[in-house]
Amino acid sequence: MSIRKHALKIRCLGLALFIIVSVASSQQKNSLSDQIEKYQNIAQRLLEQGLRELPSYSILEKITSVGHRLPGSPGAAAAVELTRQIMMEMGLKNVHLEPTTVPHWVRGPEEEALMISSVLGDHALSTAAIGGSAATHEDGLSAQVIEVKDFSELERLKESAAGKIIFFNVKMEPGTLNTFSAYGKAAAYRVRGAVEAAKRGAAFALVRSPTTANDDFPHTGMMSYEPGIPKIPAACISTQGADLLSRSLKLDPDLRLFIRFHCQNLPPVRSYNVIGDLPGYEKPEEIILLGGHLDSWDLSPGAHDDGAGCAHALSALYLIKALDLRPKRTIRAVMFMNEEFGGSGGCDYAVSDKRANEKHILAVESDRGGFLPLGIGINADDPTLNWMQKWMPIFQSIQIHWIRKGGGGVDIAPLAEQGTVLGGLIPDSQRYFDVHHSGRDTLDAVHPRELELGTIALSLLAYIVSEEGLGPHMK
Ligand SMILES: [Zn+2]
Repeated sequence: MSIRKHALKIRCLGLALFIIVSVASSQQKNSLSDQIEKYQNIAQRLLEQGLRELPSYSILEKITSVGHRLPGSPGAAAAVELTRQIMMEMGLKNVHLEPTTVPHWVRGPEEEALMISSVLGDHALSTAAIGGSAATHEDGLSAQVIEVKDFSELERLKESAAGKIIFFNVKMEPGTLNTFSAYGKAAAYRVRGAVEAAKRGAAFALVRSPTTANDDFPHTGMMSYEPGIPKIPAACISTQGADLLSRSLKLDPDLRLFIRFHCQNLPPVRSYNVIGDLPGYEKPEEIILLGGHLDSWDLSPGAHDDGAGCAHALSALYLIKALDLRPKRTIRAVMFMNEEFGGSGGCDYAVSDKRANEKHILAVESDRGGFLPLGIGINADDPTLNWMQKWMPIFQSIQIHWIRKGGGGVDIAPLAEQGTVLGGLIPDSQRYFDVHHSGRDTLDAVHPRELELGTIALSLLAYIVSEEGLGPHMK
């Protein structure tokens, strides 16, 4: 073969290869755009059905109607039975309860905090014991107050701490856009304040509520004790109460606080996670889990935290069913118990014998309130994230702006060991900590359409992953 002929043959081969690659890639593009069109139609139907009917809000109404759902409380037990009933009425399959042991702390009948000053007179402060706190003596406790702005200041003032009330007046940083990260820093004083104060001989830890709100509602939450360190009681006060106390201490450093709590740590009790499925018709053993936690703090019915997450998960399955969509893989709703008081429900779910023949490919938690959803966080490697992101045009059509690395949560975290990809619905966070763990977390703080948009996003996500999986690399 002449050199010219040889060159011509190579050019022809190159051209043929180019045509094959181009055809294949345009076929891929066509099939991707066909898929996107198909799911966009489904997204539109989910959107219309959800916004017209608002099933999430009516479920949330029922959940909050039982009152607060502190682990071990009658409200928590009632919510277990209620959500089991809702799952049955929805026609979910495999509806069942899985046991978990939960702490049983009760707040007791009255909580008092009175500022007593010969200069300024007496003022009652709005206060709430922190979850798990020991009680004061039944006659109460009266002591002087030392205000500190962080743990280092406590260390500097430790010589004068004995027998006193340590007042951690630490603001949740308002300059931080991500309120969850500001909350994490401020809440450290609620969690560790009692231990750090007790190490310096103090009698009580009083903590400024970690909240963005300027109001008179105390915000409770979890705290911890340490072996070998005296278990002194601890409470939160409202932001307005903290400002008043701080101003008053400047005018009268000798003022005293009288505090009385009757809270009790009772023996742990048995409670349950509640589980229901839309079974997959092709790969029933592969699970896409949507979850929220059924328990709440006891100062309100926990509408945003986390009645909203439970309503999201339940209603997402309801919408998929209402559209007669049969998933290839199983889509499961889990109402986790006891996220707030140690996360036992999530731990027990992950290690239950019932998981033996199941493979959780994706678990998505909603535990950031029922506010307007912005995006979806997926804690996955880059190929999985890229696979998810190719569906973005569909999510944008329902006003979900991004799919990013991140997400997850306390209840689903134990599934990571099994190789489950974890995710979370991410709503706007600017108002969440106004109500979080306080008396303001009530049904009227939730907007029905904002709540429903979260459900629609989760139903779409679960349905697409049930059909398409998480990419060819995940086989
Ligand atoms: Zn929560």
